[in-house]
Amino acid sequence: MRYRPYGRTGKNISIIAAGCMRLKTPQTERDVQEAAQVLLHAYGKGVNFFDTAPIYCGDRSEEIVGVAIRHMKPGTYYVSTKCDEADAEGFRRGLERSLDRLGLDRIHFFHIWCLMTPAQWEERKKKGAVRAAVRAKEEGLIEHLVFSSHMSGEETAAVIAEGLFDGVTLGFNATNFPFRRKALQAASRAGLGVVTMNPLAGGLIPNHPQQFDFIRGRGDPDVVTAALRFNLSHSAVTSALVGFRRQDDVDGALAALDGFTPKSNEEIVQLEQRLEQKFNGLCTGCGYCLPCPADVSIPKLMDAYNMLILEGQPQAVLDRLHWQWSLDKADAGRCTACGECEEKCTQHLPIIERLNQIKAL
Ligand code: SF4
Ligand code: SF4
Repeated sequence: MRYRPYGRTGKNISIIAAGCMRLKTPQTERDVQEAAQVLLHAYGKGVNFFDTAPIYCGDRSEEIVGVAIRHMKPGTYYVSTKCDEADAEGFRRGLERSLDRLGLDRIHFFHIWCLMTPAQWEERKKKGAVRAAVRAKEEGLIEHLVFSSHMSGEETAAVIAEGLFDGVTLGFNATNFPFRRKALQAASRAGLGVVTMNPLAGGLIPNHPQQFDFIRGRGDPDVVTAALRFNLSHSAVTSALVGFRRQDDVDGALAALDGFTPKSNEEIVQLEQRLEQKFNGLCTGCGYCLPCPADVSIPKLMDAYNMLILEGQPQAVLDRLHWQWSLDKADAGRCTACGECEEKCTQHLPIIERLNQIKAL
């Protein structure tokens, strides 16, 4: 296993981080023990960063992580968890519940969780969650305050610039890198650790191996390996989160690192250019079409529309909207057809027509 410094925290974390959201939802105490064994298997292979949250695995993921870490040597692992409450009291309750479930006195990495829009970030500040998080850090209950973002690169960079955080967790992969690139650059400049989630684009890459075959470089045996390596070749990325369900998943992710040499900057630029050319007709998530005067989430809706191109199934669009972006097709209905976005779109996509199609699904 290889390790990289998590920003300026002084901690080195494994370049594959254990995502504890895909563990089997336990029905019995034995299930809890079995899920914990998957994490211990990863730990035995050198994984030292375990990312969990309330609600994962029927709200029992933190409990499973708590069981697993009791078998790990203190100081050899890091736990990351989260709270999405906006008000101070709710945030404090969430933190205390996580401490209790994990059996820890302090949480190594605690997230202001799931910022989807700048307005949500403002709300977390206004209602007190951020104040409560800073206080908990001063009390020693949180070691490093971090946040997770589903916002654009620019929006995420603006939060980073406020200087409150030691790190960020964000979606970054071969299909959305233009949308998030500015966040990675900002994190790198500010010395933040970066954990990437969704390195396989929510299953888009492994489910379309032919369409994505061109991302394979020298020595990449398959698109999944290529996608993971693409992610980790960015020097600003500290670690990629891979969701583990079985021990095989751990072994598969680690096998992708066999013989892995990070691509040079030149290779990455070439690959990114190829990706942008190849995605002619697909939305690349670059975000240049924003802002929309009617506040339509254009890149997210266009990302969902990509599914129609890749799979030809309307339901796949609706599923992507719901599961990936927590959006409804009604969002497309806010478009007033002003045309501003089409003038700015780097791919010259017929955005208005696509929004109409989504609305009609
Ligand atoms: S055409 Fe529609 S989506 Fe595009 S900027 Fe105007 S209102 Fe927004
Ligand atoms: S619609 Fe065009 S400009 Fe907007 S994110 Fe997609 S590719 Fe980029």
